[in-house]
Amino acid sequence: AQERYASIRNKPATTECGKTIELHMNAGLMADLPSLDGSGAEGVGLFRTELQFLIRNQMPKRTELAELYSRVLDSAHGKRVVFRTLDIGSDKVLPYMKPNDEPNPALGWRAIRVGLDKPGVMRMQLQALIRGANGRPLTIMFPFIAQFEEYRAARAEVDKTITREERLGHVLPETLEVGAMLETPSMVFAPEAFFEEVEFLSIGGNDLKQFFFAADRENERVRRRYDTLNVSFLSLIERIVERCARTGTRLSFCGEDAGRPIEALCLAAIGIRSLSMRPASIGPVKSLLRRSNLDEVRDVIAVARENGDQSVRPAVMELLRNRG
Ligand code: PEP
Ligand code: MG
Repeated sequence: AQERYASIRNKPATTECGKTIELHMNAGLMADLPSLDGSGAEGVGLFRTELQFLIRNQMPKRTELAELYSRVLDSAHGKRVVFRTLDIGSDKVLPYMKPNDEPNPALGWRAIRVGLDKPGVMRMQLQALIRGANGRPLTIMFPFIAQFEEYRAARAEVDKTITREERLGHVLPETLEVGAMLETPSMVFAPEAFFEEVEFLSIGGNDLKQFFFAADRENERVRRRYDTLNVSFLSLIERIVERCARTGTRLSFCGEDAGRPIEALCLAAIGIRSLSMRPASIGPVKSLLRRSNLDEVRDVIAVARENGDQSVRPAVMELLRNRG
């Protein structure tokens, strides 16, 4: 499939109306890294660090992790890699951790909640990231932040770790960017100070959508019931775009929908300028963006809303058909 898009691999995703959308890739294992060059991705917009923990039968050691993060940065050849700290719990259960018997794991003790309540593993991971960066730029993203205080507490752990590492004589990252996933509806309405304090935000559309529609992303019966292009969900995303524009916060979108061409097109039309997706999706998404006019798409979305459509999908599909 990458052959098909080889001619645009090194070209930007610039639309007919002159807007350029950054396209990054999602990764989690060393084996994903060669795709960084093959796909033409500008960087790794989401590195799911839990995958390394999930494929083992015991907790990885700090030195092993530092070594791994170092190799990831080596293979990225200076492209930005956004390391997301451990997102475990819910559907991602570590074989060597006692499972929690929770009635609703997706709403349970997971991700940053575990990291803040039992900070040992998170601190070890932060040290490994700093040591792996070994003087290179480092970008860290916290998953599942549901209130401002959680971000502040996580950020404080980074600052504490930096101080400790410096005291221990380790080289600090050349630059350090710390941000959060925006994947719970509560954060759309967070205080403005949150948007000012984070250095970037990345919308986790998979979780954001699951919580917005109260529909389990793992449950086949309800998973497809609500369209990402539902007008209410698009309004939620627009609200995030507006809030980030106000504070000048760097924003991207990294859920699976970023890799679906029509979804990606609509996200771009409502103002998302950076998408992160599986590597194989970069070609098809870029191809459609390069042939599209976002002003036209925005107009079609507006009309669909005025008509009271549930989803803008039929109207956007019709536009694409008419354009040929
Ligand atoms: C998301 O929730 O959209 C996301 C990118 O994270 P994950 O799929 O790993 O929960
Ligand atoms: Mg998520």
